[in-house]
This record gives sequence, C-alpha cells and structure tokens, in this order.
Amino acid sequence: MGKIIVLDENTSNKIAAGEVVERPASVIKELVENSIDAGATSISVDIKNGGISYIKVTDNGSGMDEDDVEIAFERHATSKIKRAEDLDSIITMGFRGEALASIAAVSSVELQTKTASSTYGMYVHVVGGVFKEVRQTGCPVGTTFIVKDLFFNTPARYKFLKKDSTEATYISDTISRIALGNPNIAFKLTSGKSTLVHTPGNNDLKSAIFSVYGKEILKELLEVDYQDERFKISGYVGKPESARANRNYQSLYINKRYVKSRTVSYAVEQAYSSILMKNKFPFFVLNIELNPGLVDANVHPAKMDVRFADESYLSRAIYMAVSKALNSSSLFNPVSVP
Ligand code: ADP
Ligand code: MG
Repeated sequence: MGKIIVLDENTSNKIAAGEVVERPASVIKELVENSIDAGATSISVDIKNGGISYIKVTDNGSGMDEDDVEIAFERHATSKIKRAEDLDSIITMGFRGEALASIAAVSSVELQTKTASSTYGMYVHVVGGVFKEVRQTGCPVGTTFIVKDLFFNTPARYKFLKKDSTEATYISDTISRIALGNPNIAFKLTSGKSTLVHTPGNNDLKSAIFSVYGKEILKELLEVDYQDERFKISGYVGKPESARANRNYQSLYINKRYVKSRTVSYAVEQAYSSILMKNKFPFFVLNIELNPGLVDANVHPAKMDVRFADESYLSRAIYMAVSKALNSSSLFNPVSVP
C-alpha cells in the first residue's frame, strides 16, 4: 500500500499561508496591494491590537463582480495574469492568486464589495477557509475587507507574534513604504483613535515624504532625475548631513513595487563614499522604472526580493543618478520647502 496522499485544499492553503502571511503587516500588505491593483485612489486601514484581533482595509477601487467574490478565495485564482508568458510583463502588485486563500485559511475574513455597474453589493464571510455566508448587500462602490483573529487555528504561528505595539510598528512601516511608492493614492492608517499614517494622495512625492517623515526632512532632500536607454530613476536622496545610523530610511521601488536590493543600496552609498563617514547611511526614496521583462519579481511569495537581468548596468545607472543629484543640486541652493 502506498503512503502518499494529496492534501485537501484547506490543509494545503493553511500550509501555503505560512509563506504569504507571517504577521498582521503581511496581511495588510497583501490587502492594500489588491486595493492598488483595483485602481483605488484612497485606501484606509484600521487596526486593533496591532492588527492581531482586527484589520479593516477599505478602498474606492473597482470592486468585485458577484461572479468573482467566491472564486477570489481559491488558491491560484487571479484576474491579473492568464498564462505563464504574462509573468514577463507584470505591471500589477499581485499575480500569484494566493493572498486571499492564504489569509482566509488562517483567520475570519469578511468581504464587502460593489462594482460601479452593479445595483447591489456582495457580502462574503469565510472562517478558516470555510464559507459561512455569501449574500447580496447594500454598500458603496469599492471593497472592504475585515480580517479578525489572525492565526486562531494555527497556535504555533499565533505564539510567534510580537506584542501589539510592535506589530503596529511593522504595520505603520509597511503602509509608509507603500504610500511613498504611490504618492497618487491617499493612505490613512488608524489604530483606534490615533492616526499613524496619513498621506494626501496629491501625486507629489515630496508631500508623501513630508507626511511620513515630518517637516525636518524636507530641507535635506535632493532631487534625483535620471534617464538612460533602460532606466528612468527618480525620487530624492538626503544630503550627507541627514545620513542615518542604519538603512531603515532607504526606500526603493521598482515599477512602484517596494523592494529590497543590496545592489542598489551599495550603488547609492558608493556615490556618497567620499562625503559620508563610515557606518552612516544615506536617506533615499528612489523609483526605478524599467521594462518589466528585465526584472524578475517572482522570486519569493512576499515579493520583496527582485532579480535584475544586468546588475552591474543597474549599479552604474544608480551611481550616476545619485552622483548627478549630489553634484548638480548645489548644497547652497536647497530645495524649496512647500
Ligand atoms: P492576486 O492579487 O495575486 O490576483 P489575491 O488572492 O490577492 O491574488 O486576490 C485574488 C483576486 O481577488 C484578485 O486577482 C482580484 O481580482 C480580486 N480582488 C482582491 N482584492 C480586491 C480589491 N480590493 N478590489 C477588487 N478586486 C480585488
Ligand atoms: Mg493580491
């Protein structure tokens, strides 16, 4: 008798959830990225207990059709790609079709959504991957997800969570990073009565930086504006005197997706090498726009890592872009404070 069985869907979703959903901040990242993909211009997030007991994400995006509200929770169910070739030209944040299935496998999820063309909205309630309720409802155009009791059915994961305030800090950091990459969208993060992040969504990166880091940073910013055959690099770097003791103040976006790249951090730091002390790290918020075919976002389910087709070319371009900003924006001529 053979010993191998194929796991049922609920069990495999629970396992897969381990890769996508590590903590409340990862749930929020996935839900907010879905809102961005839905074309939202305003996204609000409310949390309780650092998101462990309660997360609510509301957007004014496209909403979902009645026909899609159940299948959306299936694994590998996505409206964003159709075939493998599409992976070479991804312009959306999501594409794996894993997030909703994973989140719903390990929490209680309520969805309320309505498209502009539908006369009524839909309400769906899923607990631990099991549908409890699917019905029509009245609601505005757009989508709201409420996620409660994260990891209620995976005690090992639950135990691994940090205290509420620490989880709230991770969430605040996540929203801030996403907001800096999408200055055209208004973000609001509240925890009970306190507002943790609030950006205007006026499509001005400097305003978003101001909202996240406060007024002080504004006079330290040098604009980056560089283009060659492959890349358009834009954003801001900090003057040398604003350098920090760690790399937490570095945000990099590839085609609007927040990523971490040692290659890019080193290339930026190289441009500062003669003017920065050791163990000081420059502030930056940089966007690199490139042909989606030249970058592989499909490395890890959380998609924070990317691979570039030609790392040394990229390093050079970053180095040039930052050097240009450091040289041309004379330190005697600071950028204006709005
Ligand atoms: P992916 O984002 O990789 O497609 P998800 O599991 O995150 O996978 O979402 C599944 C599908 O549900 C999406 O492809 C999209 O069609 C739909 N969806 C999820 N969230 C929203 C939202 N906020 N607004 C509109 N549609 C959504
Ligand atoms: Mg998604």
